Amino acid sequence: MPFGLYLHFPFCRNKCSYCDFYKELYDARLEVRFFEALKIETELAAMAFGPFDREISTIFIGGGTPTLSNPDLLAGWLEQLRRLFIVPDGIEFSIENNPDSVTAEKLTTFRQLGVNRPTFGIQSFKPQLLQLLNRKHNPADSARSVYLTNALGYTNFGADLIFGLPRQTSKMLSEDIDELIDLDPPHISFYQLTVEPHTTLAERVQSGSLVMPDPDLSLALYRGGCARLAEAGYIRYEVSSFAKPGFECRHNMRYWDGSDYLGLGPSAHSFMIGQRFANVPDVEQYIHLLSQGRRPVIADVSGIAERMVEAIMLGLRTSKGIDRQRFAVRFGRSVEERIDLRQYGLFVKSGHVIDENETIRLSDDGICVADEIIRRLVN
Ligand code: SF4
Repeated sequence: MPFGLYLHFPFCRNKCSYCDFYKELYDARLEVRFFEALKIETELAAMAFGPFDREISTIFIGGGTPTLSNPDLLAGWLEQLRRLFIVPDGIEFSIENNPDSVTAEKLTTFRQLGVNRPTFGIQSFKPQLLQLLNRKHNPADSARSVYLTNALGYTNFGADLIFGLPRQTSKMLSEDIDELIDLDPPHISFYQLTVEPHTTLAERVQSGSLVMPDPDLSLALYRGGCARLAEAGYIRYEVSSFAKPGFECRHNMRYWDGSDYLGLGPSAHSFMIGQRFANVPDVEQYIHLLSQGRRPVIADVSGIAERMVEAIMLGLRTSKGIDRQRFAVRFGRSVEERIDLRQYGLFVKSGHVIDENETIRLSDDGICVADEIIRRLVN
């Protein structure tokens, strides 16, 4: 079976206040060492999985800020990837970009390397909100990035927008959404700001210098945003993912439906031929282990019960929901064995959960409160 390939590029120019992804401040010399280690990891992965699977179905380079990567080093790694695995022409190939580091030259090089789906972390068009998030780009960078993307002939790209920020009013969000719709991205990630532990945002919220919005206001913002996106022709296919028909992110859909994916780079996660594992979230340790010819992997110790919960969580967040039969084949157990049946019955009765044609999914009302429903079903 083909698998999705994810690369975690672990460098950023600065650290955004809300971000808990693994990253280090960009350092050109460390980047060279990282790519050397990545090549060893790719070789070892080909040896480990080559006998079973060599065809890649999608590529996604995230991070971190992959826009900062040295094009020669990236090209060298891709050349190796194409030599060791089957990479069919024209497969979905995404790369995340920060608008402040996007240039025509970078986007041209990415295209030459096979990228056909850049995504842009726009987040907001309000300078004061970008500052609060410690993002280094400005609204003009976002517009310029999308202009260049269109001018260079990309027909598919994505943009991210955040809601539920301290000090964000509904007027600010509706202006942000309208500005984004004007740029006409085929794909939009519209997601709620969450306070992750050990971030600057968490410290500021704890100290009282920032106040997160009331959950009811956030819910109202989400509902309003969804309605506006639907009106503009975007279809919600997952709680935070909206696309024009045919532009759904195939790579992310692999995560949600339990297909195989291989993650390379520090902190990347994988699910391959029934095994789950994650890489060490430390670039120096990653380089050190690979320099000794060892895969930088931490084996996953989660049991079947945890994996069933994860499948239920991911499945219910998508518009397709959970296919009962696929679930039973995958785990050898039914969905019912892992959910609170009393809560389930209540949610079906209230119309938040729809149970039909061997599929369990959330209704429009249900998807707006997906996290709460999931929490009650699998606690
Ligand atoms: S650019 Fe992205 S990965 Fe880097 S700190 Fe900001 S949110 Fe995190």
